[in-house]
Amino acid sequence: MEEPTGARPSVVIVGAGFAGLRLARGLSRAPVGVTILDRHNYHTFVPLLYQVATAGLEPEEIAQPIRHILRGVPNARFRLNTVIGVDLGRRAVITDAGEVRYDYLVLAAGSTTNYFGQDLAQVTSALRDLDDAERLRDQVLGTFEAASAEEDAARCRQLMTLIVVGGGPTGVELAGALAELQRRVLPHDYPDLDLSSARILLLEATDRILPGMPKALQGKAQAKLSELGVEIRFGAPVADADADGVTLRGIHYDDASSSERAMAAAEKLIQVDRVHVLIGPYGSDLTRAVVGVAREHGRLLWNHGGAVDDIHRPGHSVVSILTPVSRYFGGFFELVRSLDVHARKAVVLHRRSSRFGGLAARGAQAAGRRAGFVVDALTYSRLPEDLLQLLAKLRRQQPDLILSAGSFEDDCAVAQEIIATGMRTRPFALTAAAIREFGETLGADSEGIFAPSQWEPEARYVVDFGPSASQVARRIRSMGAIADYPAAQGYAACLIAEHCLKEAGRADDEALWRAACSLDCTTFFGRFRINPRTGIQEGHEMVWIQWQGGRKVVVWPPSVA
Ligand SMILES: Cc1cc2nc3c(=O)[nH]c(=O)nc-3n(C[C@H](O)[C@H](O)[C@H](O)COP(=O)(O)OP(=O)(O)OC[C@H]3O[C@@H](n4cnc5c(N)ncnc54)[C@H](O)[C@@H]3O)c2cc1C
Repeated sequence: MEEPTGARPSVVIVGAGFAGLRLARGLSRAPVGVTILDRHNYHTFVPLLYQVATAGLEPEEIAQPIRHILRGVPNARFRLNTVIGVDLGRRAVITDAGEVRYDYLVLAAGSTTNYFGQDLAQVTSALRDLDDAERLRDQVLGTFEAASAEEDAARCRQLMTLIVVGGGPTGVELAGALAELQRRVLPHDYPDLDLSSARILLLEATDRILPGMPKALQGKAQAKLSELGVEIRFGAPVADADADGVTLRGIHYDDASSSERAMAAAEKLIQVDRVHVLIGPYGSDLTRAVVGVAREHGRLLWNHGGAVDDIHRPGHSVVSILTPVSRYFGGFFELVRSLDVHARKAVVLHRRSSRFGGLAARGAQAAGRRAGFVVDALTYSRLPEDLLQLLAKLRRQQPDLILSAGSFEDDCAVAQEIIATGMRTRPFALTAAAIREFGETLGADSEGIFAPSQWEPEARYVVDFGPSASQVARRIRSMGAIADYPAAQGYAACLIAEHCLKEAGRADDEALWRAACSLDCTTFFGRFRINPRTGIQEGHEMVWIQWQGGRKVVVWPPSVA
């Protein structure tokens, strides 16, 4: 253990960085003995680390021996020690080589990299000290070395894509220096390498680089980086990274099922968060409201929550993953035909003022006609007031099958009354019966009832890419959510958007739209193929479930049942 000399008070400074050295120098005439401890025997000129990381400077050019710096400070001595703790009671600094006693202690050990709450330390390269800078330099040069030996063009492009996370001074300097390296140095070192496909991406979570600096400087730096070929992505908070790339954190706001709030949220996502991919809300009315906002800003909307057909209007850019309402009853007539070859007459019930009900009914009539059925629509204005009249009309019709396209409450009320009055037909289908709570509400009466569903975890598709239905269900559950169709729809939209991002190679709505239009694939959610003129979903088909023994069972189409 080193003891203070006793003659003069002992000041121990941990860290020979800017702060520690400045203090030591400042105390050079004071009646104290100064001991400065550092885990390195050199002082690093941290602001130039990025130059070492990009091979612009050698490490020794920014590292100066601490003993050399302290030559002019007669009352200071240096100890090469790593500090591992402090015993405040005994006034002793604990180091890897024993203890150092002090009268005054100054901790100037610097800071650590701020990952802003994300678990990124293991999967990214920091730039905090000389070791980091050398490691980064080796990594950067190593990837270009690997790229020059790579024959697969896509893999080569991937190797030459460098991502800098964070648009603060360090990120900006590093991205700029990497661009310089790529433009000025590498073409000479790798004459055979096609560096035109090399990319440097600077990802920044907020909407500006160099926070805290004057706006004019931010603008200048942004312009300079763009001139150097650095692609800056704002609103890009990185949540994870692996050898294949980074995962951006999604930003979401609660719309509280209000169109106004959904529109305000969309406005904020576009204007403030500057998101690259705009995912719509849940529900047709909210989606319709948000489509307007997206259109005003010329943005593409990825729709997973609105199935009504009129979300797709000329001039709107909406990619939908859902079967539109007008095709909800599409497969049902084939299903009925497989059960009863003689069935001919169908009735579809819906609320007169409901856009959803009207669309579904018209779609059912068209699909029924094509399959050789006669489909009449019976409407009501209010329930339960109109029930008696509705049932009287239904009795006169004597249909072979009944369909209903109402809200959850309407469909439950209609179903309960039809069953109670003995008018139930064997093929009996209600849009609301796809909802889990339907079984609880109707109890044993739900037995045998059919429903069209956008997605069921049991429907087994042979996927072209992405996880299987059971993997998706597990992931959704692991996030504390119910693995039902609303969550699956959101997941599917993101999966398709992610695929299009990879195909397009950039987060640009125009390129993403083109990628979506040329995509024809099957995921855990079923088929995806949109009409390139309208964006309306034409590939996805409803699955048909039937309530059997208190649970939903997928019964149609046979390929996934
Ligand atoms: C990449 C980068 C670029 C920067 N660019 C600029 C710039 O251009 N302009 C600017 O004003 N600021 C810049 N900064 C910030 C500036 O470097 C810091 O504000 C400054 O270094 C802080 O000084 P310090 O003495 O507190 O810590 P540091 O300079 O980090 O020194 C800490 C010292 O403590 C030692 N130490 C740490 N832990 C222990 C331990 N357990 N035992 C013994 N010794 C230990 C370290 O080895 C180091 O020598 C930059 C920072 C980084 C990371």
